[in-house]
Amino acid sequence: MTEHLEKEIQDAQEAVAKQGDTVRSLKASLKEGKSEKADVDAAIQKLAELKLVLEAKQKEFEKATGKVSAQSKEALRAALAGVLERRMFYIPSFKIYGSVAGFYDYGPPGCAIKQNMTQTWRNHFVLEENMLEVECPAVTPEIVLKASGHVDRFTDFMVTDAVTGECFRADHLLEGHLEALLEDKKNPPSAEKIKEIRELLASVGELKQDTMAAALKEYNVRAPGTGNDISPPFPFNLMFKTSIGPKGDLVGYLRPETAQGIFVNFRDLLYYNGGKLPFAAAQIGNSYRNEISPRAGLLRVREFTQAEIEHFVNGADKSHPKFASIAGLRPLLYSRALQMGEEKKAQPMSLGEAVEKGIIANETLAYFIGRTWLFFIKVGINPERMRFRQHLQHEMAHYATDCWDGEVETTYGWVECVGLADRSAYDLKAHTSMSKNDLTAFEKFPEPRMEEVVKVVPNNKELGAVFKKDQKAVKEALEALDECGAMELKSKLEAGETAKVATSTGQAFDIKPGMVEIKKVTEKVTGRTYTPSVIEPSFGIGRIMYCMFEHSYYTREGDETRAVMGFKPIVAPTKATVFPLVQKPALNELATKISRDLTSVGLSNIIDTTGNTIGKRYARTDEIGVPFAVTVDFASVDGDGSVTLRERDSMAQVRVLQSEVANVIRNLVDDRMTWGDVTATYPAQKAQADEE
Ligand code: AMP
Repeated sequence: MTEHLEKEIQDAQEAVAKQGDTVRSLKASLKEGKSEKADVDAAIQKLAELKLVLEAKQKEFEKATGKVSAQSKEALRAALAGVLERRMFYIPSFKIYGSVAGFYDYGPPGCAIKQNMTQTWRNHFVLEENMLEVECPAVTPEIVLKASGHVDRFTDFMVTDAVTGECFRADHLLEGHLEALLEDKKNPPSAEKIKEIRELLASVGELKQDTMAAALKEYNVRAPGTGNDISPPFPFNLMFKTSIGPKGDLVGYLRPETAQGIFVNFRDLLYYNGGKLPFAAAQIGNSYRNEISPRAGLLRVREFTQAEIEHFVNGADKSHPKFASIAGLRPLLYSRALQMGEEKKAQPMSLGEAVEKGIIANETLAYFIGRTWLFFIKVGINPERMRFRQHLQHEMAHYATDCWDGEVETTYGWVECVGLADRSAYDLKAHTSMSKNDLTAFEKFPEPRMEEVVKVVPNNKELGAVFKKDQKAVKEALEALDECGAMELKSKLEAGETAKVATSTGQAFDIKPGMVEIKKVTEKVTGRTYTPSVIEPSFGIGRIMYCMFEHSYYTREGDETRAVMGFKPIVAPTKATVFPLVQKPALNELATKISRDLTSVGLSNIIDTTGNTIGKRYARTDEIGVPFAVTVDFASVDGDGSVTLRERDSMAQVRVLQSEVANVIRNLVDDRMTWGDVTATYPAQKAQADEE
């Protein structure tokens, strides 16, 4: 039933595209006097009818399936891609040399949006929370990434085409294959098989090497395009390796995330912060991942900008002083329970309730979920098409307490744009153990307490006699034992046994009775030393930008050829355009002055003196999402000195004094004023006749 509808939609789309071409060529020949206006009107009328047919078919499909048709998605994506490329938001890098997959250049509007997006992020997070911002190098020595686990574990499984050698990501291949099996109308799988495939699909990302190999074999997955055999899956490290210095003997990597730069600076940051916790540090910068199969434009690339926060907190108290400010927010939450349930749908829930019911592990994690939600809305993501999805137990690293991904719905499906994780004390402990530097914090008790503490007193004479040159290392290892380790050692030694103790280099030594005294004493304790936990929100700026592009794109009612990027003023690359209504020196002069006024209050603007019709000029600026336009006419120079101010989405216009217009726009961009305030304050202006 839906197959037949899909075919009808495709036919209707082709008919619309064909008629669109006819209208364009008739319009062009009308200009040259080679066709009649009546023919153009008739062709436009026909185009409108065909579009209605297409819309009806798409609605029918959506009603029958509950999904946006693949064709609608394809059409939207293609139309948007046309605008993004034509207006140079971003384009493949190194294009004249044939490009390299996974790299993109931002053009002028793309650069401006990225700049606005990161600045908004900085204001929303860094400024609001007094975070400590750092900027660390991308080239990172191996030892740092060895400590973090990236050298050993930052891998994806890869398979190769047995004949051509082409590489593929094993999980993507398996996923695509399983999805195709589910959609196979000719040989539909049995109900039992469908269940099995669905279960496998849910865990594809978490399969180990042997289970991945078994699944690829069982389902007879073959190389795409060629249908050749594929190799067994093997781990491929995603980091770009390099060497540091002229001798080439110091191995380095381009960082795969910005977070490590913050962890290795923890001690200095804590000192900078006066030794006080909690505090958060942040970094915005490029990260590099040698993705096996980059795809979907900006969504999976090999160099991308991350904005990461590491919020350091005492693991025993993860409350947040500003929790109340977000507790009432109700984002769509897709908890573990909802993912395992029948309906598999996210539900709105207040963050206060989610913490109270234990759905979100703690206040600090929920606080960042709330702040992230507000940030996404601020930059133009539709809150109804964004959700926070909790990691299933098997998706989380063993040390993580709770993780949520901020996902946005696009034509590519749900896209993870931000990961929010409670990583416990894992990272700082890993760097403490590798660097031998103390990365702990001290919690001062409000009042000193009398506490029973475990004292480890090494017998230096005995250790020196037995371990000679290793004496110092063994002594340090004994003194570094935590309470539990020390008590375990004590009980073994008291039983007359020999116990092993490992030094910082991992070398183990036999400790015998008499080498160390371990005792419990009661003493005055003023505080305690602990390794802080970290809560990490990690944003991908490029992904957010692409999702925002999809959510902002629309066409003017009744004319699908007129694309509008409905950017929020705060992220819009250009805040205003200035047009002289007609080409006259006096009008041009005033337009130039207004442009200077806008620049002087920090508003990016363009002045358009091309002499095109107002309608054409608006159409051009709509495509790059300019939210406001100022038109200078004769009344501006000869009459009351007012100009027309037009808002992009409503197309409503008001008259504002030219001396005030720059400040009005500044207030609109900064959200100090709404367009509603403007229309209530200033007299309306009828649209110019040739606007549409
Ligand atoms: P991760 O460390 O994998 O959780 O990534 C953190 C964030 O970085 C993700 O939520 C994405 O927004 C972004 N990200 C990760 N990998 C890529 C990629 N290959 N291309 C673009 N953005 C990415």
